[in-house]
Amino acid sequence: MIPINYYNPTRYIFARSCVKAQADLLASCGSKALIVTGKHSAKACGALDDVTEALTSRGCTYAIYDEARENPTIDSVRKGIALLREEKADFVIGIGGGSPMDTGKAIAFLAANEISDDQIFNKRLYKNPGLPTVMIPTTSGTGSEVTQYAILMNDAKHSKTSISTPMIFPKLALLDPTYTMSVGTRTTRNTAADALSHAAEGVLSQRGDSMITTVALEAIRAISACFPALEAETLGYEEREKLMYGSLLAGLVLAHTSTTTVHAMGYSLTYGNNIPHGRANGLLLPGYFRFVAKTHPDTVKSILDAMNMKSIDEFAAVFTALLGSEERFSDEVIEAYTNTVMTLPNIPNSLSVPTREDVIEMYHTML
Ligand code: NAP
Ligand code: FE
Repeated sequence: MIPINYYNPTRYIFARSCVKAQADLLASCGSKALIVTGKHSAKACGALDDVTEALTSRGCTYAIYDEARENPTIDSVRKGIALLREEKADFVIGIGGGSPMDTGKAIAFLAANEISDDQIFNKRLYKNPGLPTVMIPTTSGTGSEVTQYAILMNDAKHSKTSISTPMIFPKLALLDPTYTMSVGTRTTRNTAADALSHAAEGVLSQRGDSMITTVALEAIRAISACFPALEAETLGYEEREKLMYGSLLAGLVLAHTSTTTVHAMGYSLTYGNNIPHGRANGLLLPGYFRFVAKTHPDTVKSILDAMNMKSIDEFAAVFTALLGSEERFSDEVIEAYTNTVMTLPNIPNSLSVPTREDVIEMYHTML
């Protein structure tokens, strides 16, 4: 048995209508909240109203920062910190997909740590725990509600980089699948691909162990059970619940193992070509399976078995149907992306560590 050393201090509650039911717990996190959201969805899906009602019913006040955008930037975090200070908020509630949640986590942490923009990813400067945060996901993909990461665009590296510290784990996560009923087809598929990637990369990482692999395979079973409904666009509440359950478990895996080659390569596709995060990972996942299967065929087979699939080709066909495969890149672009990718810590975290040539090959053969 490999030794197990697992840490996740986030309290998470997964239930229909849990925001209203947990109003006391929500209010126990502070007296004035900065609520961080994207443009429309937090309101449209009902989560924002549930949160403001719960806060008001317990005598808490709030201010709203609704300028979190896809692929958060340092600038948007700075703007949020300014509002947090102006409003004298003492905790942060993130409502949305990974983008508003990561924006909220970064606001709460950097408000308590004076760090210049060019040092923002320098862990040695992380001294103080941030303000308490509550995360309410409205997509089923990132698992950010239970992780110690806030991922921001990194212009210096032409990639995306995590603020990564145990001090950034949310205090509380409230997961209600009802909020995901309004997510459109593309985003639902992309986010499912992200969650599947977190779980599969956890199994295929250097930090995998027997316990976390068990959780990851359960996540993979739950997410893949929804592939037919994802393809037919017939997702009902039951499937939405399964996807959120899979995404939560995959987030717990991600918090333990971090990510590998797939995310490292995907960040360049997002930074350079604006490909949504989950889709970028989904395009690359079959290639990573093929690469790792050369050295660890049984481990890759355990993932295919969890999906009830016989081969990587079968998996690639399902993902082609879900995500399409229109992107192709020139040799020069792939060279440039590979230069960045080879410097990222996710590469040595891969179960089978790729060379430069392997990464180039995977870019050429993605979906
Ligand atoms: P997202 O960027 O948060 O949101 C994508 C789109 O979905 C937005 O247009 C958003 O609209 C919309 N949306 C969200 N919830 C919706 C709902 N319930 N109904 C209808 N539309 C909805 O997407 P995401 O894939 O969840 O997050 C991706 C980000 O998370 C990336 O930046 C990625 O790097 C990061 N990430 C973080 C972690 C972590 O551990 N911290 C892990 C993986 C990924 P609005 O703008 O109106 O809200
Ligand atoms: Fe991800």
